[in-house]
Amino acid sequence: MDKRKLAVMTSGGDAPGMNACVRSVVRTTLHEGHSIFGIYGGYEGLINGELMPLNRHSVSNIIQKGGTFLKTSRSETFKHKSGRRRAAEMLKEWNVEILIVIGGDGSFHGAHYLYEEQGIPVIGIPATIDNDIYGTDLTIGYDTAVTTALNSIDKIRDTAASHNRLFIVEVMGRNAGFIALEVGICGGAEEILVPETKSDLKKLGEQIKTWSKAGKKSSLIVVAEGDDLGNANTIANKVKEAYNIKSHVCVLGHTQRGGSPTATDRVLASRLGFHAVKESLSGQEDIMVGWKDNSLNTIPLPESWEKKKPLDQDLMDLYSVLSS
Ligand code: ADP
Repeated sequence: MDKRKLAVMTSGGDAPGMNACVRSVVRTTLHEGHSIFGIYGGYEGLINGELMPLNRHSVSNIIQKGGTFLKTSRSETFKHKSGRRRAAEMLKEWNVEILIVIGGDGSFHGAHYLYEEQGIPVIGIPATIDNDIYGTDLTIGYDTAVTTALNSIDKIRDTAASHNRLFIVEVMGRNAGFIALEVGICGGAEEILVPETKSDLKKLGEQIKTWSKAGKKSSLIVVAEGDDLGNANTIANKVKEAYNIKSHVCVLGHTQRGGSPTATDRVLASRLGFHAVKESLSGQEDIMVGWKDNSLNTIPLPESWEKKKPLDQDLMDLYSVLSS
């Protein structure tokens, strides 16, 4: 058997579970009898030749840690063909035959171009707290982000109830409402505003008045940062201006990106790392490995951003019943 050389990197926004995924990629590769490099600092690190051989101990004691020990970056240089050429030269210099990229859709674009232009076999593993990648039910980091946001919302509810207040809580999600929808349902939100559906100021204002007429003393609205009505602060201002309703805003922000990954994220990350290595060694390239309907799902890498993953309609229906 030919001994092959792989490389693994984390890229783009960090997500809890990236470490668990790198650990799985490294240990599966070694178990299969091959060797592996870690690339430090995403595409920027690759261009600068920041590669290090990894062994099974290099990934000891990291499964429980948030962030990524390989570090990550956003690389402007790599967005240009000349940057990608340099990255490919670096991989060839180190005799790397397969590149595994753990990241979001930006990182997948880059990986795909590296394959298409420079002929480097690449495999993508979806990791982003936003969960907005087609071809997988869950992305690495999403479950942890939801859990973190929910912990905060439960605390905010205590204050909302004690002081009879209306709270507008902003969660992450510039283009997608997965976090908002799930957190809103679990946190018993009265209203959930997501970018996927049109939000209506008039309807919202009237709804808040109805709650108050019905004797409701405290309420919670969860909004995704990219909602078409605006972020939480904008919505609070609009509601005050149009209906003279006072609210309190809490923006959860980057707290949702960090922290120890949940069991669900650790299992997902370990599974996808394992399958990415297996698929790459069997000759697959330019694909993403995902987990769908409780089994492995592989799709061509471009499909992961060309197709839009819809929100779970069942959860949308459920929310409209439970919040009415
Ligand atoms: P994420 O992977 O979390 O979506 P980014 O969108 O920041 O994060 O992408 C990570 C990196 O991937 C960028 O810094 C850039 O180097 C590379 N990248 C993103 N989009 C492209 C693109 N369209 N073409 C080539 N490379 C890209």
